[in-house]
Order: sequence, then C-alpha cells, then structure tokens
Amino acid sequence: MNTTPGEPELSSSFAERFPGLGTASKAIDAPTPEPVIVNDDLAEFLGIDLEWLNSDDGTAFLAGTHLPTDAKPIAMAYAGHQFGGYSPILGDGRAILVGEITDADGNLEDIHLKGSGRTPFSRGGDGLATLPAMLREYLMAESMHALTVPTSRALGVVTTGLGVQRAKVEAGAVLTRVARSHIRVGTFEFTARQDPDLVGDLVNYSLERHYPELVDAEVPALALLEAVTNAQAKLIAKWMHLGFVHGVMNTDNVLISGETIDYGPCAFLETHDPTTVFSSIDRQGRYAFGNQPAIGQWNLTRLAETLLPLIDDDEDQAVAKATAVLESFSQLFGDHWLEGMATKIGLDGQHGNEVVGELVSNLVAMMTRSKADHTSTFRGLAKALRGEIQLDFTLSSDSAWDDWSQRWHEALGDADKTEVATAMDAINPVYIPRNHLVEEALSAAGEGDLEPIQQLLDATTSPYVERDGLDRYARPAPTEFTDGYQTFCGT
Ligand code: AMP
Ligand code: MG
Repeated sequence: MNTTPGEPELSSSFAERFPGLGTASKAIDAPTPEPVIVNDDLAEFLGIDLEWLNSDDGTAFLAGTHLPTDAKPIAMAYAGHQFGGYSPILGDGRAILVGEITDADGNLEDIHLKGSGRTPFSRGGDGLATLPAMLREYLMAESMHALTVPTSRALGVVTTGLGVQRAKVEAGAVLTRVARSHIRVGTFEFTARQDPDLVGDLVNYSLERHYPELVDAEVPALALLEAVTNAQAKLIAKWMHLGFVHGVMNTDNVLISGETIDYGPCAFLETHDPTTVFSSIDRQGRYAFGNQPAIGQWNLTRLAETLLPLIDDDEDQAVAKATAVLESFSQLFGDHWLEGMATKIGLDGQHGNEVVGELVSNLVAMMTRSKADHTSTFRGLAKALRGEIQLDFTLSSDSAWDDWSQRWHEALGDADKTEVATAMDAINPVYIPRNHLVEEALSAAGEGDLEPIQQLLDATTSPYVERDGLDRYARPAPTEFTDGYQTFCGT
C-alpha cells in the first residue's frame, strides 16, 4: 500500500523476531490530537520529514492514530523485580512499540508511544497519561541528553482530547519516546521463565543491536553480561556525577542498551546528601541517591540469573563465571566515577592516582557536611580558580576548605588556571531541571500556559553556557520547598 509523502518508514524487527514477547495492540482513538511540543532536532537525527511531522498526519502519528500502513504496533511483554519483589507479568500497560527507524548514525531506534491507551497488560490501569507527566518525561529526557547522559529521548508530546482521572481530571497526552531499544532486564526475566529456549535468541538480538562487536564472542551470553555490566556502571557513574536520583530502579526500568529510561519519580539533588530520596513510594530508601551503584549491581545479578544456562553447561562453572563479571561492577563503577569526578575538578582521573582519589573523596565529604548545592559547587570551584569573589560559595566556610584548596592547587600544578576553569565549565552544568522550577512549569502547563516549560527547556538543553537573565534557573530552591519535596510514579 502507498504511504503518504514524508511518512517515515518503520521496521518491526523485534515484533517479527519475538512474537512471544509482544501482543498486537493499537493506540486509543484520540478524538482531537493537538501538538504541544515537537522535537525538530531529534526528528532530523531520525531522518523524519519536519514538514510532515508538523502536519496533521504527523500529529496523528505522534498520537498513534495514524500509523504507517505496514506498522506492527505491539505492547511488549516483560517481568520485573519491583522494590525487590518479583512480578512475573508487567509489560507495556500504557504504551506501545510502533516500530523502529534508522538514525543518522545508522543505529535502529524504537518509536514508542506512552499514554496511548489500554493494552492486554493494563491490569486495573487506564492506560493513559496526563499532560504534566508526559511533559516531565520530555523535559528530563532532553535535559539528560544535553548533559551527555545515555538516555531515551522525546520526539513529541500531543494532547489527545481525552480527560484523565487522577486527583482531578487532567488533559490526556501521549509522549513519543525514542530509545535504542526497549529490551530491559525484565524482558530477560520474562523470557527465561516463560520460554527459556528463546533467551539465546534474545542475547543474539541484543548483541546485534547494541554490542555488534561482540556477536562472534565465544560465549555470547557472558559477553552480553560483561557489556551490560560496563554500560550500567558507566551510566550510574554519570548519574552520580550530576546528582541525578532515578527513583525507581526496578529491573523493568533497566535497559540492556545502558540508556536511562522511565522518568517517573526522578529528580536532581540540590543539597549533596547520599540519603536523598524523593519518591513517595520509596519508604525504605532502597533507591536513595547513594544506593544507586549497589542497586545497579543487584539488578545486573537478576540479569545474570537468566543467562546462567547459556554461560556454561556446568552450573557451578556458570555461577563462577557470572559472579566474576558481577564482582567487576564495583571496580568498573569506581573507575568511571573517579575519572568523571576528577574531570569535574579539572584533574586527570587515571585509576590508581591516590592524590586525586583522596581529593575527590574529601570534596564529597565536605559537600555533604556543609550541605552544599551539588550542581553549583562545581561552577563555584571554577570561579574560585579564576579568583572571582563569591558570596554564596558554601564550601569556603567549611573548616577543611583552605587545606583542601591548597592540595587541589598543588595537584593542578603549573596548569593554566583560566584554561582549567574553562574546561571545567564545559562539563559542569549551570542549568539543570531544578525541582521547584519543574513543578512550577508543569503546573502552569496543566493550566494551559506553556511558556514556563519552554523557558526551562531552553535553559536546560544548553546547560553549560551561563546566559544573562537566567539567574533563577541556576539557583537552588528555597529549603522550605526541598525539605518537603516528593515525586510520584505512574501519573
Ligand atoms: P512504571 O512505574 O512506569 O515503570 O510502570 C510499571 C508498570 O505499570 C508497567 O507495566 C506499566 O505499563 C504499568 N502502568 C503504569 N501506569 C499505568 C496506567 N495508567 N495504566 C496501565 N498500566 C500502567
Ligand atoms: Mg517502567
């Protein structure tokens, strides 16, 4: 059948290869889809015709009501450990995988709609999403991308014309999410229990799509475990550098590709404190800021369990080999973390450099003790290096500051301080989606005013260059706000 001019061509490699891991599913017939925000930069990267995307057909595509004729939309099946407990069947309860498209780098990207109506996995849920929740995911994903964190992206948000019942009736919306794939640790958990013979295929497909250099590995399952372990160690190190708290690191929210996914209750730290939890449902602090590396390793262990029969015929051997990979996580994470932290303070963070390691850990201790704002601390350090006077630089009132600063200058040696400060500013953001600004922008959007979310997006998608008139985007929230701040899942 003919496609309309400009309509993107989609493939369905996952749906075709794994019919048992998805159920054909369609988007709800949105009565009046209206575009709220369309990501032209991402569309260009995906080779999608901008004129078409911004036409009525493009809007209907983003709402899921007008898909290419050969599309095979599915709700994906997966399981997951949620807060430590196992749920054998989760799946896309309010989302569908529309298909895949090839990006400008030649990689396949999933086109996935969130908030598109009920599916066979919806259980008691309505399958819908509210406009503020989908704008929140759009903002967080695009900010994280600008901060160079591997992440799912957002192609657009459209309202559907349907009301969604939450605490009050809100505008329904669909987010078009783009990710290198939606294969999760939970996809492996589901497959290993429902159809164990298929795990090998899923390993091969994951390697082809995400780690093609490993497709010929002697033991593909072990190679995949190693690759995902490294990707997750690197990803979580990035979160820790930025003060990002994911908030719901269940195994169904951990991608094999190593991209961040599912921006529900996530938030950025203001005051540096490892015990920080924002999510209203995380009462035990399982997913607290400082726990994220340990949870990452726990989640990888759940992946390893699904791969054991493919790692070695001898069970003890399989366990020993998988354990060795899992144990490498701490070292990998530590190396990625130290390297990034060292760069944040203008130093070369080669592993084994004790002076740098000590400077970094003393800095973190000082930030915690003096309740420093995580993000502005690193910009403040660069300003200190330039000799700028700062009235609001928290660290300088800590008793250890003078000694630390002296050791830092010694470690910097005879490097040009202005150049170091410039290099630091190029990787330490001024603008992150601060919680009070996010809430303010989302509640305005809920009332029909999109100006604040646009402004916040403008600030946070160019996070490194300080601009006139954006002062309030660089400042922490009043403590009264932060002390009581809570985020929510699934809204
Ligand atoms: P999440 O917290 O977004 O990772 O979602 C966990 C599970 O709940 C997934 O299986 C979702 O598809 C499902 N879910 C979340 N919200 C809804 C909803 N409104 N309707 C149906 N299923 C939902
Ligand atoms: Mg999820």
